[in-house]
Amino acid sequence: MANTGKRKGRRERPDLTFGGVWDYAPAPESTDHVDVAERYGLFVGGAWARPRSGKYFATMNPANGRKLSDVAYAGGKDVDAAVAAAKKALPGWSRLSGDDRARYLYRVARVLQERAREFAVLETLDNGKPIKETRDVDVPLAAQHFFYHAGWADKLDMLFPGQDVQPVGVVGQVIPWNFPLLMAAWKIAPALAAGNTVVIKPAETSPLTALRLCEVFMQAGLPAGVVNVVTGDGKTGRSLVTHPGVDKVAFTGSTEVGKEIQRAVAGRGVDLTLELGGKAAHLVFEDAALDQAVEGVVRGIFFNQGHVCCAGSRLLVQEGVHDVFVRKLKRRMGRIRVGDPLDKNTDMGAIHSREQLQRIRELVDAGVQEGATLYQPECELPRGGYWFAPTLFTGVSQTQRIVREEIFGPVLSVSTFRTPEEAVAKANDTSYGLSAGIWTDKGARILWMAARMRAGVVWNNTFNRFDAASPFGGFQESGFGREGGRQGLRAYVRLGAGLLPG
Ligand code: NAP
Ligand code: MG
Repeated sequence: MANTGKRKGRRERPDLTFGGVWDYAPAPESTDHVDVAERYGLFVGGAWARPRSGKYFATMNPANGRKLSDVAYAGGKDVDAAVAAAKKALPGWSRLSGDDRARYLYRVARVLQERAREFAVLETLDNGKPIKETRDVDVPLAAQHFFYHAGWADKLDMLFPGQDVQPVGVVGQVIPWNFPLLMAAWKIAPALAAGNTVVIKPAETSPLTALRLCEVFMQAGLPAGVVNVVTGDGKTGRSLVTHPGVDKVAFTGSTEVGKEIQRAVAGRGVDLTLELGGKAAHLVFEDAALDQAVEGVVRGIFFNQGHVCCAGSRLLVQEGVHDVFVRKLKRRMGRIRVGDPLDKNTDMGAIHSREQLQRIRELVDAGVQEGATLYQPECELPRGGYWFAPTLFTGVSQTQRIVREEIFGPVLSVSTFRTPEEAVAKANDTSYGLSAGIWTDKGARILWMAARMRAGVVWNNTFNRFDAASPFGGFQESGFGREGGRQGLRAYVRLGAGLLPG
């Protein structure tokens, strides 16, 4: 276990001192677990920098509403400096052999593993998700993304045989708050493997793990300017994605902002990938192993408080088992432990922000007003911070807002279907198309259904399983382009004329 300010001298910290601003005096509330600086700067050109904007903003712990740290606000000039640093680093980085780039990425992955506990605690503090998840999912998967892409860095010729493989250039990346470290790894690792340099903007409400990742880059000796981190708000994101020095934009976030970005880059010759929202159908057939399906459905919607773009938020149960399934599901929901995200027994942590809590409440109220039946197990929610109980709606219809809109919270709606054809029709009756899930005992049915579902990922007899080797992405309003797997690397290269004769 790597960690904490309490065990001084165990691990050498990179020198982060900059004009006396960075002291690692821990913020009062987090001293037990991980040291959090009172203030963070921007990471530009391999060093910490004060923001030219002169502004800072606070990031909070959603479990108690208290401030964790002040973080630099990147204005337009800061984004200019970060893009310039990435441009300067590009020739050196892109001319390194794939083997050399791989060494850096392997080093990053290993340091991340060594410091896993520290990252898990920090992510839980800044985001509100349970430590069980940051420890077992977010941090290991983030490391896996660096390992996986390190493996490709010297094999791009094999991935695109006979073609001249070149990096795209400077990549501007914007990520959301629901998987802050994982999204950063997901975006940065393939970009670097293919020889690009990066400017990344984390979400305003969860910037701390992306900033700590910069320490890992320093520890791994990553050359200056290869990755730059600009913290800020939506305006910072806009400055980045519209910056003339950026050759490719990769965005994960809401459909609304995704559309705005698409308009902003249109006609500028900038490559774009968009990973946006979702409203996944989760189907349970009569022949499914129902107890396992209950576990899958619970994981599908209550994992990460439902702040998951691919969450299985629309449950469709075959008519004959609807009543028994809902009974089992309610009983299981009663055993979900909601509370202190740092407690390793907690299943569901805090809602990420006040705004998100308001949105969840608004949609749940709309569900009740539109006539759906609400169920919440008895559960005592902590005081302070932002909390919402696991919620189930039965008696829903396809037209209700809770069925059509992405809630991005722990709210599941249930309806029924009779035939596989009807299941497909209902599952596809959405403007999104990111993911779906099917529980059935019949292999042939899985294949039949999966071929007809308009969703980028279709899980069978499991849900919310992720792997760096598996491409992820959507259709329709869920965006375009794939991330992860061989397909994900395509977005980070330009392919030239064939190198092979003929
Ligand atoms: P969001 O409001 O779209 O924000 C996403 C990121 O974009 C944040 O860093 C945000 O900055 C930034 N941003 C806001 N306005 C911008 C603009 N005009 N130009 C450029 N950047 C801008 O989404 P969110 O509420 O943070 O995240 C939740 C959404 O993300 C959900 O809809 C979810 O489905 C989606 N999501 C999708 C995937 C996927 O892979 N498909 C994965 C995770 C999440 P600030 O935070 O500083 O405002
Ligand atoms: Mg926070």
